[in-house]
Amino acid sequence: MSAKDNRCSFCGRSAKEVGELIAGSDGAVVCRECASALHNFFALQQVEAKQKKVENMLDFNLRTPAEMKAELDKYVIGQDNAKKVLSVAVYNHYKRLRSEMLKKTELIEDKSLADVEIEKSNILLIGPTGSGKTYLARTLAKMLNVPFAIGDATNVTEAGYVGEDVENLVLNLLRAADFNVEKAQCGIIYVDEIDKICRKMENVSITRDVGGEGVQQALLKILEGTVCNIPPKGGRKHPDQEYIRLDTRNILFICGGAFVGLDKIVERRKEGKSLGFNAKNEKPSEAELMADVQPEDLVKFGFIPEFIGRLPVVSSLAELSRDDLVNILKNTKNSLIKQYQKLLALDGAELVFTDGAIEEIAQRAIDMGTGARALRSIMEKIMLDIMYNLPTSKDKKIKIDKNCVISTFQ
Ligand code: ADP
Repeated sequence: MSAKDNRCSFCGRSAKEVGELIAGSDGAVVCRECASALHNFFALQQVEAKQKKVENMLDFNLRTPAEMKAELDKYVIGQDNAKKVLSVAVYNHYKRLRSEMLKKTELIEDKSLADVEIEKSNILLIGPTGSGKTYLARTLAKMLNVPFAIGDATNVTEAGYVGEDVENLVLNLLRAADFNVEKAQCGIIYVDEIDKICRKMENVSITRDVGGEGVQQALLKILEGTVCNIPPKGGRKHPDQEYIRLDTRNILFICGGAFVGLDKIVERRKEGKSLGFNAKNEKPSEAELMADVQPEDLVKFGFIPEFIGRLPVVSSLAELSRDDLVNILKNTKNSLIKQYQKLLALDGAELVFTDGAIEEIAQRAIDMGTGARALRSIMEKIMLDIMYNLPTSKDKKIKIDKNCVISTFQ
């Protein structure tokens, strides 16, 4: 029987209506139109399967910059510029990561842009101790649902010296990702005290550069993107050990530091460029100067230019005021007061802080000069006796006023 006498097994139309029919080995026939539809159907299924695989790899919770900023606002008081800059940078980073992954599976729609490589933009946060640098990074990682690790730049030494290798930073991230390499490669590492690894002009040791250019070079490599060989259990490397290979190309590095004295460098540059400060000849505040940091200032501070080049997104955080600290205690989603209230509620107790008590706590933290960091230890001291006696106490209504706070510290 010729295919011409037959009908398409899919649409039922005859050869007269659709032209040529293609016959299969078991007698089934198909017209050109249905064959093409089938081809498209399977191609689409293939694309969807690939897309699903990519989505599984990229299971981070990416929101728009405005949504991220709004979420940060619930946890982090003040630091508006840093929150905005970070939201945009993090959004761009993960958008880029998604596009790289899609490129790998050839799912990029716009072929004209397929060859454009978007460079990674690591972030530099400048701000005093306890102003929220680490907290911002941690909150973002949590929001995105990506692994997060904190490292200290002062622990890193140039390869070959006693101290931590840069790989340890990455090892911490791998641990946070439960040793899932793919997940770790999409994580965030916060590197604290980055200002402490600056090249020091004075006291240069020719034999050993523990905190300086050598360390910057070592960090530079992982910031740029390199494949690290990590001993599976951490610790020292042995030549015959099997390493875990981890690519840092897509890891987002957020570096932070207090940069004491950087404001003076900015001030000198600005003074040099203009006669006087502004029309009213007002001296800019330290926070205003820090908000205007340029790459050249950071080079003057002691960074090698290549290092600064790898931290193209810079934002500065202001010192927190007493009102900010009051807000942090009272009004954030995860505020310390709410945490203690929850803790005591588990023992059936009600905890109340008067405004006077909260202001006194904030003032004490200001006096300690470590920003919001001091709040926790102050609260812990105030609450110690109360928490000690609570399980056996009959009094389940606890009110903390200004005098309670003052007497704790006498
Ligand atoms: P640093 O700037 O030194 O990295 P951290 O982020 O470690 O400071 O701050 C210490 C703690 O203080 C945080 O874990 C957080 O609880 C609180 N904190 C600091 N800054 C803020 C802020 N702006 N808003 C809310 N909480 C903050």
